[in-house]
Amino acid sequence: MFTLRSVAQPQTIEEAYKLLIQKRTNAILGGCAFLKLGSQRIDTGIDLTHLGLNLIQEKDGFIEIGASASLRDLETNPVLTQRFSSLLTNATANIIGVQFRNLATVGASVFSKYGFSDILTALLVLDTQVLLYKGGRMKLSEFLMRPFERDLLTNVFIKADDCQAAYQCLRNSASDYPVLNVAVACSQDQWRIAVGARPGRAALALQAASLLNAEALSDATIEQAAKLASLELSFGTNMRGTAEYRRAMCQTLVKRAIREAIR
Ligand SMILES: Cc1cc2nc3c(=O)[nH]c(=O)nc-3n(C[C@H](O)[C@H](O)[C@H](O)COP(=O)(O)OP(=O)(O)OC[C@H]3O[C@@H](n4cnc5c(N)ncnc54)[C@H](O)[C@@H]3O)c2cc1C
Repeated sequence: MFTLRSVAQPQTIEEAYKLLIQKRTNAILGGCAFLKLGSQRIDTGIDLTHLGLNLIQEKDGFIEIGASASLRDLETNPVLTQRFSSLLTNATANIIGVQFRNLATVGASVFSKYGFSDILTALLVLDTQVLLYKGGRMKLSEFLMRPFERDLLTNVFIKADDCQAAYQCLRNSASDYPVLNVAVACSQDQWRIAVGARPGRAALALQAASLLNAEALSDATIEQAAKLASLELSFGTNMRGTAEYRRAMCQTLVKRAIREAIR
């Protein structure tokens, strides 16, 4: 169990960031679902409740998601569901249960870059950007490549382009961490394919997507793209599955996801 010596509820984002960097042992509090698993001793826990970061709204061609929006908000928001073919609904639906998803936040889920994340895999196939107080605004793919740096993630932005999309995952049992997950999306004839829980962090299968973009869609092209995705990405072994198993499942899940997206 983690320990909190005090909790601060800053009134501005600047104040929250200043508190964060004031002391190495200060930490941002999301829904605390993951923090609770550890034994961290936190001096000041920074609660973002008063910063108005819990909204999901469409603005200037983007859907803006505040860091404090819950995974349940992501799952049930009608704008996200309509625009992205229920991609985010399906990606979140397997994470523990509704009560848990009402607590866990989008900001923590993205900032923490968990390898097993269902959320990151889905966000990666959309045109997603993140806004960090110090680091500024950047593409999610760029953020995922960067080394960890203390910062405050305030918003996630998704380009409000309609797309055909689908999400597939493989779990050893319901609500366990995924053995592998796959998201695909096609917007303006451009495909994106992401594979996560490899067990490393989600990554884009760029060669497989290029193949789909270049050729007419047929069973053979889908088959080829799925194979390419499984060959171009790296996979590892952990208690949930071997690298070989993940590579084989990648091919199957990518194929299923593309077929589902074009249905
Ligand atoms: C038992 C369990 C099972 C899970 N299974 C899955 C799963 O199958 N699939 C999946 O995708 N996810 C899974 N998760 C992860 C979950 O979805 C959340 O991503 C995770 O709990 C973090 O969200 P939180 O709000 O609880 O973060 P917290 O526990 O509050 O914080 C986690 C970390 O993020 C930091 N942080 C919080 N907010 C911010 C911010 N705005 N900016 C910068 N840093 C911040 C905190 O300081 C802390 O270091 C699981 C988590 C748990 C505990």
